[in-house]
Amino acid sequence: MFLTITTTGTAENPATDLGFLLHKHPGKAQGFATSHGTAHVLYPEATAERCTAALLLEIDPVALVRQGQGKGRGGAPDAALAQYVNDRPYAASSLLAVALGSVFRSALKGQCTARPELPERALPLRVEIPVLPARGGPELVQRLFGPLGWASVAADPVRLDERFPEWGDSRYVRLVLEGELRLADVLRQLYVLLPVLDDAKHYWVAPDEIDKLLRAGEGWLAGHPEHQLITARYLARRWSLTREAMARLELTRLAEADGSEVEEIDNAVDETQDTEERPVPLAVQRREAVLAALHTAGAQRVLDLGCGQGQLVQALLKDTAFTEIVGVDVSMRALSIASRRLRLDRLGERQAARVTLLQGSLAYTDKRLAGYDAAVLSEVIEHLDLPRLPALEYAVFGAARPRTVLVTTPNVEYNVRWESLPAGRVRHHDHRFEWTREEFRGWAATVAARYGYEAEFRPVGPDDPEVGPPTQMAVFTLNSPTETATETATETATETPKEGRAA
Ligand code: SAH
Repeated sequence: MFLTITTTGTAENPATDLGFLLHKHPGKAQGFATSHGTAHVLYPEATAERCTAALLLEIDPVALVRQGQGKGRGGAPDAALAQYVNDRPYAASSLLAVALGSVFRSALKGQCTARPELPERALPLRVEIPVLPARGGPELVQRLFGPLGWASVAADPVRLDERFPEWGDSRYVRLVLEGELRLADVLRQLYVLLPVLDDAKHYWVAPDEIDKLLRAGEGWLAGHPEHQLITARYLARRWSLTREAMARLELTRLAEADGSEVEEIDNAVDETQDTEERPVPLAVQRREAVLAALHTAGAQRVLDLGCGQGQLVQALLKDTAFTEIVGVDVSMRALSIASRRLRLDRLGERQAARVTLLQGSLAYTDKRLAGYDAAVLSEVIEHLDLPRLPALEYAVFGAARPRTVLVTTPNVEYNVRWESLPAGRVRHHDHRFEWTREEFRGWAATVAARYGYEAEFRPVGPDDPEVGPPTQMAVFTLNSPTETATETATETATETPKEGRAA
């Protein structure tokens, strides 16, 4: 039963810093006695470029049984045998989570006295668990880890027996997580989600489990789309505990929406997205263009997807035409800045009822996003890796399916007009791509055709005769049901007047 954590580094930031973070020296193999056996920590590789820590749990089946913790589901006739013959020694499970919690206790808390700055740093990380029991299958693994900021989540089913592929898959997956995250956050995710996926607790669920769950879930659980499933499974479906935990999570969510942890908001520069020195900043022009398009569409209930620090949400809130505004972002930090900006704690009841901030990833379908009039994706798509874009398309156009979708993105052709931008550079370090007008139109047309929308294009900012505007915007409008029924809907769309379009 084991997991590995790998990071990469350079001469200045060596990968072996992982040893400081985990409080375990890369040069040594160490063993720790736990109640279920021995936990070994060793480093199969430890260079400045690449460092891997492995946590290997050697289960003592007899110890498990003695503690009455290896029991199968309530007193079945074969329970006695199942106590000895089961997957515990091989599969990662809640026992691995327990070991992780004790062996890496300080790392889990984000403490590092030797190098206090280290835990705050997001590191390029790769976590692998070769055999992970996953009740709910690869799909549930995606739903659980997907919204947590990983660049990639791979859960491949493990065959029952490699020699007999026709036997099909076991209930185990090989999990590989890759992305730039803080190590403490990763350990806390695993601490909670391994037992959730295992869905069979091997220790008595005591009331203090709620505290453990909420502590490990700080900053990510309250806003997770699956927080209910996670809570119920973690607490082994003990409903009284689950209810109490859910109530406390709700409080956490409200407290987080207070934004109490953020200080720098008031002096934060608003328009950091663009290298921009014009009289009316581009970000302001973009907001105005978005507001105008929402008015034209007659939208009242609006989603701001990838709302960032909440500037658009704020503008929407000031406009009484919008009765319900939901800001969604994957970044908890951005959301807490947003809630400070909106002064959610000081809004009157009426105003507060109009606005909600949700944490969630747009690369996953989210039931909470269904049923709105319009969705805005302002400067968001370029932050996703291209291969992830179809997932966002499905989540927004296929599942949430608002009548109007507004998408803005940089026009890369315009970059030659930014004096401060070196040739060939994108505008923001986190942009995964920037498109020409043709590329954007091609993408929008494909998405519109696939999901039964019609796309129109509007320039935002000065429309340069040669290179076009700095920002390009697509306005997608859902075809009325009769039109989507026709296969040629998208071709005929331009000639046919739309009924579904608001005046
Ligand atoms: N809409 C804002 C912010 C744009 S910056 C504006 O126009 O100014 C892009 C935002 O998208 C960031 O806040 C980032 O956290 C968010 N984001 C990136 N990938 C995301 C994803 N998969 N799901 C949700 N939000 C995401």
